[in-house]
Amino acid sequence: MTRAFRQFIDAVLPTSCIDCQALGSHICTVCSGQFVFTGHRVSRQDLHGCSATTLNREAHLLISAVKDDGRTGLLREISSAIVASLAIAHPAAFESAFAKALHSKEFAIVSIPTRTAALKRRGFDPVGSLARLVAKDLGVRVQPGLSLARETRDQRSLTLDERAENLQGAMSFRTSGAFDGPVLLLDDVVTTGATLLEGRRAVEAAGIHVVGFVTFAETPSLLDAKASK
Ligand SMILES: [Zn+2]
Repeated sequence: MTRAFRQFIDAVLPTSCIDCQALGSHICTVCSGQFVFTGHRVSRQDLHGCSATTLNREAHLLISAVKDDGRTGLLREISSAIVASLAIAHPAAFESAFAKALHSKEFAIVSIPTRTAALKRRGFDPVGSLARLVAKDLGVRVQPGLSLARETRDQRSLTLDERAENLQGAMSFRTSGAFDGPVLLLDDVVTTGATLLEGRRAVEAAGIHVVGFVTFAETPSLLDAKASK
């Protein structure tokens, strides 16, 4: 199915709950109590940020419904959880300069790029779409320009060391015009942090400050990293 056709189906046909499969909505009222995400601060090395949730069963169901089944309507749920987590976690999660930036909305969101193979398979970029929704909710803008400068391997099959090596120097950040930051990085899941750290390296190599990051989910252990990157 093409993306457009899936979105059409998503829009016009009765949908089913991603948890109990009951017809009606993406998440039925019975299950909705399980899909509550509280937000917590997360750090990887000296890069700080927050996540809406750990990668628990419900977070995994949501991400998989979007990425594997193309149920893009659920990006709205994920975006709301991210925005709420920023509101809850940001005063403690970021350096004070960023708390100020968040308050004054003087930052742009930069989404972590999707691998070409994944983009081809899915026909859309879930993280890029998510960034646009989050930016709209926050009243800030998305800054394009972060891309993969070379092909990388799927992080999920790699060890901790291999992940870092896989991404070393893999990204580049190019903007046109007068963009001078600062930047909040956004991704769906943080695991080892190798992806976000490489994103920061690339953005800062362009002379632009990265104040922190936000992800929907956090996977604390590489053992649980099957659905992340
Ligand atoms: Zn349900």
